[in-house]
Amino acid sequence: MGQNSKSLIKGMSLDELQNWCEKIGETRYRGIQLYGWLYKRRISNPQDMTDLSLRFRNYLTDHTELNTIFLDSKMSSNSENTIKYLFTLADGKQVETVSMVDGYRHTVCISSQVGCSLECDFCATAKMGLLRNLKTGEIVDQLLYVQNNVDEPVTNVVFMGMGEPFLNYDRVLKAADIFHDPRGLNMGASRITISTVGLLPKIEQFINEKRKYKLAISLNAADDLTRNKIMPINKKWDIREIIKAGKEFSKMKRRQIMFEYVLLKGINDSAEDAKKLSELLVNVECKLNIIPYNETDGEYLRPDENTINEFINILHDRKKKNGYRVLVRWSKGQDIAAGCGQLAVN
Ligand code: SAH
Repeated sequence: MGQNSKSLIKGMSLDELQNWCEKIGETRYRGIQLYGWLYKRRISNPQDMTDLSLRFRNYLTDHTELNTIFLDSKMSSNSENTIKYLFTLADGKQVETVSMVDGYRHTVCISSQVGCSLECDFCATAKMGLLRNLKTGEIVDQLLYVQNNVDEPVTNVVFMGMGEPFLNYDRVLKAADIFHDPRGLNMGASRITISTVGLLPKIEQFINEKRKYKLAISLNAADDLTRNKIMPINKKWDIREIIKAGKEFSKMKRRQIMFEYVLLKGINDSAEDAKKLSELLVNVECKLNIIPYNETDGEYLRPDENTINEFINILHDRKKKNGYRVLVRWSKGQDIAAGCGQLAVN
């Protein structure tokens, strides 16, 4: 039986699994068991699901496909505890996932799309264009794979790999729900962060969700002229609108919004930019994540260390009258091109 005729049950919610079980003549309770085996115990060989009947295990073996991603290669960073995985999907397309261990924190950076449609000028993934959305199972499997291969328990997950999570909204949220569910991976909502380029209608939709996952918005510039140039999406929803939406998120969710700001040499890294940025964030309770650019094949460069420090110092000096906290993300795994924005498959 070819793979295409098999049911893809990885990625199903509890309800869907229960319905599926009922449809094939099993009880709904089997769906609960299956959910635990797939996500909590991370088992993908039905024969290992020991509390299911042999008949059901054989059915699963014959009629379902429980692996959605297949390891192509893996690269470990020399300097840090960072591993980049390259996975091949059932249709031959490929995505990358990054695992970063730092003390007790184990963060997995997962992809939501194969490629990306958003054309941010400095980002390596953008150069691929969008090939397709990932299925829920393919998103969930990235985390399951890492957890099956790295001893340290995964403590945090960030949707900051390839793609724009909010252009694959339903599946990303469904995957996050499986991570969050106590019967699934049981991760706290505050340990799950979704990052967006700033798609206003989707941010609003996200604010209205019951779920309390964290939100990060890639700001990357302190004025619209600059942001238009490096992030064309700004022509649709500009800086003022996305900051307002971020503020709304913090208020409604009682969770601090995070703004990401990639520092690009000569583009958005001047003292003037730092001042403008701090002005934009007056009265905005937020976390500001400064990410010195990780160089890719393109024309953009990382500012030198002095410029980076000066930029950060200006923000620090001005933060008293503002509500923001400044963090610098010295991206991990640059030597294996696993840093932010370096993920791309040729
Ligand atoms: N599309 C979403 C999710 C990707 S997150 C988003 O844009 O938010 C990836 C983060 O890395 C974004 O904040 C992006 O601005 C940043 N980034 C992209 N290319 C980068 C690079 N080469 N170096 C550092 N950060 C980069």
